[in-house]
Amino acid sequence: MSVPAHKPLVYIISAPSGSGKSTLVNELLKSVSDLEFSISYTTRAPRGSETDGRQYYFVTRTEFEKMIRDGEFLEHAEVFGNYYGTARRFLHDAENNGRDLLLDIDVQGAAQIKQKLPEATSIFILPPNRKTLEERLRKRSEDCEEVIQRRLITAAHEIENYDRYSFILINDHLEESIEILQAIVRSERLLRAGRPLSADESKFVEMADCCRLANVRERVKPILDSFRTSDAPGRD
Ligand code: 5GP
Repeated sequence: MSVPAHKPLVYIISAPSGSGKSTLVNELLKSVSDLEFSISYTTRAPRGSETDGRQYYFVTRTEFEKMIRDGEFLEHAEVFGNYYGTARRFLHDAENNGRDLLLDIDVQGAAQIKQKLPEATSIFILPPNRKTLEERLRKRSEDCEEVIQRRLITAAHEIENYDRYSFILINDHLEESIEILQAIVRSERLLRAGRPLSADESKFVEMADCCRLANVRERVKPILDSFRTSDAPGRD
């Protein structure tokens, strides 16, 4: 008799750049077992200490377009003028290895995954307000002023899609955000298992529930307002 294949839980994380997503994702991967990170393909050049096969697979546009034609992507999108895509094989690998899969992708990619895998758990990370996002983008000194302004405008558009996600995490205090993110992953696994929960397990579920879309709308409103009233570059 064949052993039934593990159906991986798929977690999608999206956030405007500068929201602290990479730090949160790295901490999550360190602290939660059996969670595989899907390394995306991209046509953008490596930044700083990024290496091929770790943060991304860096490929040319020609190579990427061939992969599209060969149907190798579960989803792909153009972000800031470059292609980014999630290879199908990561889902198969997670399935074969009995692990769950974490995708760090933009809102376009998230929408494509939700169409193909409606059960995927989607998490949107929000900065506490526009001013904090602008400060974080400046502090990491990765981009010139023009790029920072472009990222802020893109962020304002991306944030408007927050209500397509199952969970909203407002990344104000890093330690707390890491705990919440861990709780969301654990809670989804516990709910999938469908067995009675211990008191400790129930706490994870409650913590995650606080970030469910229906429970955060009031907290999200002032954040959206801070972006909507600050269209002009450089305003607080
Ligand atoms: P960065 O170039 O700053 O690493 O990423 C830019 C944006 O591309 C981020 O919002 C990131 O989540 C998104 N991204 C990274 N990999 C993928 C992918 O495979 N597919 C899609 N759709 N977006 C991705």
